[in-house]
Amino acid sequence: MQFIDLKAQQARIREQIEANIRKVLDHGMYIMGPEIKELEQRLAEYAGTKYALGVASGTDALLMPLMAKEIGPGDAVFTPAFTFIATAEVVQLLGATPVFTEIDGKTYNMDPIHLEEEIKRVMAEGKLTPKAIIPVDLFGQPADYDEINAIAEKYGLWVLEDAAQGFGGVYKGKKAGALAHTAGTSFFPAKPLGTYGDGGMIFTDDENMLAILDSIRVHGQGSDKYNNVRIGINGRLDTIMAAVLLPKVDIFDEEIELRQKVANRYTEMLGAHVITPFVKEQNLSAWAQYSILHPERDRIIEGLKSENIPSAIYYPKPLHLQEAFANLSYEPGDLPVTEKIAAEVFSIPMHPYLSEKDQDTIVEAIIRYAKK
Ligand SMILES: *Cc1c(COP(=O)(O)O)cnc(C)c1O
Repeated sequence: MQFIDLKAQQARIREQIEANIRKVLDHGMYIMGPEIKELEQRLAEYAGTKYALGVASGTDALLMPLMAKEIGPGDAVFTPAFTFIATAEVVQLLGATPVFTEIDGKTYNMDPIHLEEEIKRVMAEGKLTPKAIIPVDLFGQPADYDEINAIAEKYGLWVLEDAAQGFGGVYKGKKAGALAHTAGTSFFPAKPLGTYGDGGMIFTDDENMLAILDSIRVHGQGSDKYNNVRIGINGRLDTIMAAVLLPKVDIFDEEIELRQKVANRYTEMLGAHVITPFVKEQNLSAWAQYSILHPERDRIIEGLKSENIPSAIYYPKPLHLQEAFANLSYEPGDLPVTEKIAAEVFSIPMHPYLSEKDQDTIVEAIIRYAKK
């Protein structure tokens, strides 16, 4: 049994993937080949944004928009502490200061009430200038964008959606990737839409933002690549990565539905024994992870392991307690909801091709170890 079974998907579309890779080998445009533009157009259309820009990773998809907004020293950027390190890493990399917000105890997404409190606190302190908010679509469920975008507008802040896990999800009829001013997603193999290596995509409706990102993607190029008008990076998506993704886009919606079916069965069978994911009525999750809570998490995980059932903890240590952010002087107890969830959460196998038999085996074992 696999935590995420990439082979099952490959067996389905291997011929198209091989044909697409062969096409790249034939035309030889390994850098910025035609598959990049094709993927950008298809995914902009999918998300419902005007523009999409292929980049080298989900991390670059967050870093580059922050660079475009010239976020730097003295600026405060608000992110949840319960997320993958990349969300806040890019902030500190630019010399700006991550300010960690609490999460909602049910959705595990950014708590808009605590967000506003933190904005007010930072303003009152007067040391940092609030500039941006990075909500995360954690485990596949979009964050509360109406509330967050309204707070952003009230305080003149800019919002960057971290849709690395959320791409494929829906919020009030709008797709993840289109829920804030700019969004970034990841094509890391294990993400809902993953390639066979690293990759990412930025989404925006803002033409000016797109032009700056286009320049940043190739070392800050101006009219040509040896005319550099700003500091950029090598942030390009590889042509082969785009070629691999194209056949995956064809079956993406169907795969999201299959994930939803797995999630529904899990929730039905596990609901009385552990705390199952809470997805708001207005949302559809992309089900990047199926994450549950139990106070005896470690015992359950050990039990599952003894029966060769894989599981994982996303995330055992919240960002405010990571050594990488020791400079920010957070302490245990500063974000109690985040810390409680981090102590009890774990994720179980989730992918579109998980058989009902395997689901039953997983559920039966969890119920047994949850009771002991
Ligand atoms: C995976 C992930 C990223 C980073 O994406 P990479 O492609 O691995 O660089 C950023 N944020 C979140 C929430 C993620 O899950």
